[in-house]
Amino acid sequence: MTLRYINHFNHLLDDLEQHSLKRTLKICDSASAPIMTIDGQAMLTFCSNDYLGLANHPELAKAISEGLLLFGSGSGASHMISGHHRPHDDLEKALAKTQASFIPEVRALFFSTGYMANLAAITAITSSLGSNQVMSIYSEELNHASLIDGVRLASKQNQANVQVFPHQDLQALEQLLAKDTNEFKLIVTDGVFSMDGDLAQVTALLKLAHQYDALILVDDAHGFGVLGQHGFGILEHAGIQNTNEAAARIIYIGTLGKAAGISGAFVAGHKTLVEWILQKGRPYIYTTASPPAIAHGLLKSLELISDDSYRTSLNHNIQYWKKTLRLKKWGLMPSDTAIQPIMIGRTEDALQVAQQLYKKNIWVPAIRPPTVPANTARLRITFSANHTTEQIDQLIHALMEIEDGL
Ligand code: PMP
Repeated sequence: MTLRYINHFNHLLDDLEQHSLKRTLKICDSASAPIMTIDGQAMLTFCSNDYLGLANHPELAKAISEGLLLFGSGSGASHMISGHHRPHDDLEKALAKTQASFIPEVRALFFSTGYMANLAAITAITSSLGSNQVMSIYSEELNHASLIDGVRLASKQNQANVQVFPHQDLQALEQLLAKDTNEFKLIVTDGVFSMDGDLAQVTALLKLAHQYDALILVDDAHGFGVLGQHGFGILEHAGIQNTNEAAARIIYIGTLGKAAGISGAFVAGHKTLVEWILQKGRPYIYTTASPPAIAHGLLKSLELISDDSYRTSLNHNIQYWKKTLRLKKWGLMPSDTAIQPIMIGRTEDALQVAQQLYKKNIWVPAIRPPTVPANTARLRITFSANHTTEQIDQLIHALMEIEDGL
């Protein structure tokens, strides 16, 4: 006799499969790079967020190894107990410096993942009010799942009043803010939208935040290391200045598993806001600190990021792709970032195109609902500084051939 629960979940899993919604894992037998080995086959890949090509950089492997020898393999405890080691602290200071020109009196807090940083920042900030007050949250329609989950948690735990505003529609946001009589407000947005590749209008959002006396949280997971002259992210790209009165309203989230090539994330903001997140961010307090060797490696990664040759190669690849690709039926999303999605529409069609590319030994993921809205399934192509123009040509040629054959 099979356990009733096993039948229940098998039934649900079959249902996912029938609707082309069942996800599968692919095992990579080589390091992150434009060519990766999957099932013994060399695959040309355009799906990693390793935008600067640092995930397999020998200097980072060396720095992490050094960190392992100096500090051992594990941190041993959460940050607030005995897990906060010297490299964690040095890293936080170095991360704060990356945002110091944009945010006044900035401090940074290092997290094991961006998912946890988002949960911690949103729940801590919204847990600051007494029992007779709640915070209003204005959440961008296309925000990443970790922001959505943070906002949901804030709504349940802290009774935050949540409103979702349409993608890039600042007029709609302003109308909502203008009606709000609540004293405490938080605007939450991705910096670079992870499935579309477009940028949040941070300057205009900050102006609105100031006008309506709100805080603003910007999740720059795909911008840190990539945007701005020094790779400091979307605040640098937008020219935000720490002398701007409004800049103390910014809570900046950068992640370190994408362009920085390792893993982790940070929250940067005015030191008072960050101290509160440290005191009240449950996903910070109640988890084991990541290995100090990771922080040791990330210090090297910040040095590499400051070398703009990686960004120059990445930007060259993006421009080359945009000027060379010619599509007839599918649409390229209006993006200038390393995320270059091709809109297909139906989930089955997007999966079919991804499969055809895979047969040609090119790996591009099909992104489908619920990650993106219904009928907007797409190929999410991402570029790295390490792709060559020949490899980009190979992708373009394959896509045009498949589009012609449909
Ligand atoms: N925010 C955004 C916009 C992301 O794309 C991601 C990861 N895909 C995260 C946060 C989560 O970061 P991490 O992978 O470090 O948990």
